[in-house]
Amino acid sequence: KKNVLIIGAGGVAQVVAHKCAQNNDVLGDIHIASRTKSKCDDMIASVREKKSMKVEGVLEAHALDALDIEATKALISKTNSQIVINVGSPFINMSVLQACIDTGVAYMDTAIHEEPNKICETPPWYANYEWKRREICAEKGITAILGIGFDPGVVNAYARLAQDEYFDKITDIDIIDINAGSHGRWFSTNFDPEINFREFTGRVYSWQKGEWQVNKMFEVGKEYDLPVVGKQKAYMTGHDEVHSLARNIEGADVRFWMGFGDHYINVFTVLNNLGLLSEQPVKTAEGLEVIPLKVVKAVLPDPSSLAPDYTGKTCIGDLVKGSKDGKDREVFIYNVADHKDAYNEVGSQGISYTAGVPPVAAAMLVATGEWDAKTMVNVEELDPRPFLAQMSKIGLTTWIRDEQGERQIF
Ligand code: NDP
Repeated sequence: KKNVLIIGAGGVAQVVAHKCAQNNDVLGDIHIASRTKSKCDDMIASVREKKSMKVEGVLEAHALDALDIEATKALISKTNSQIVINVGSPFINMSVLQACIDTGVAYMDTAIHEEPNKICETPPWYANYEWKRREICAEKGITAILGIGFDPGVVNAYARLAQDEYFDKITDIDIIDINAGSHGRWFSTNFDPEINFREFTGRVYSWQKGEWQVNKMFEVGKEYDLPVVGKQKAYMTGHDEVHSLARNIEGADVRFWMGFGDHYINVFTVLNNLGLLSEQPVKTAEGLEVIPLKVVKAVLPDPSSLAPDYTGKTCIGDLVKGSKDGKDREVFIYNVADHKDAYNEVGSQGISYTAGVPPVAAAMLVATGEWDAKTMVNVEELDPRPFLAQMSKIGLTTWIRDEQGERQIF
């Protein structure tokens, strides 16, 4: 058994808390820490209400500013945690990682580190911050699993599975992320607007022909016909996993595509062109200094409030092209998740669900030793099979569409 400290109390953390509770026979004590302790208390109330704890055990809330490395170290020691699942905002990654390195415990997160005052990070994403700690993790035998949400995360495992089982040579990996669900609001982002918009205000980077290619957001679009969700328009977007996959799956072009409706694109374009998505402070005529993006965030719906009314499905997967036994082939490895099912089970919408289940599956594999890498890794560096099998047991199945049609493989 390994005790877990969950950092953050947002949409993804809510799922992580429930899933840790449902598997606390493998994971042991569960501690939840965030800036606002009341949010952790609410999560604990939800876990109790849904009777998620598998066996009798510790479930506690703590107030923590995770930018304070010493405070984080003290909490890790006090709670005797052996695994930290960081699902707080991406601004805290490097301080939480440092606390884990100093206390010798396993670390995992679901996004790359970002600095609050900088526009969206540019490639090489992992090399900007996290990989600078790779050597020290190896030296000290620290397990650090980077980007273990759905994308990045599961899609990295899908790429590795494709390499291991379905191809001799991979030429293209197109990661496609479609949310075909509906939240019923006039406009909302599905997660923190600050993080969501940042992804799209910068330039779009993809890895093609052995180098970074640069495009503008919404410049390159394509219609995909996908299982369950059908025909969907997706646009090329920059994303963390493009970087690590480009390094680890040699010779492949790697692109990331996200589905957007025309309404989202219109609203985004207006806000962006007006300068309302800027993270640079502006002064009002009254002398008030405000950050436009923060104001936009303040007036938009809180993404976690969308969950009760969310309906429809997500489809996220890897369209992989290459050759096997001298023949060209193409496979799509994917998961379909349902917003309503997620809400009924753990009180969150489908996007949080698909991001929150993977780190818990990974934590269970760290606890059993199968994924206890004792160094810093991206997900595609680990054997995907035990992970996808574990995920299937705890809520996310894996499917493939190939020459023989569509079928579940995990
Ligand atoms: P939310 O914005 O809902 O929650 C973030 C949480 O982080 C909040 O509870 C916030 O605290 C907490 N937090 C922020 N700063 C601090 C700090 N200094 N100390 C302690 N806690 C802090 O985010 P989500 O749940 O939507 O997402 C969580 C993470 O998952 C993000 O990094 C996001 O990018 C990533 N993600 C990854 C996905 C994937 O598939 N890979 C998909 C979706 C998200 P409080 O509220 O208490 O103030």
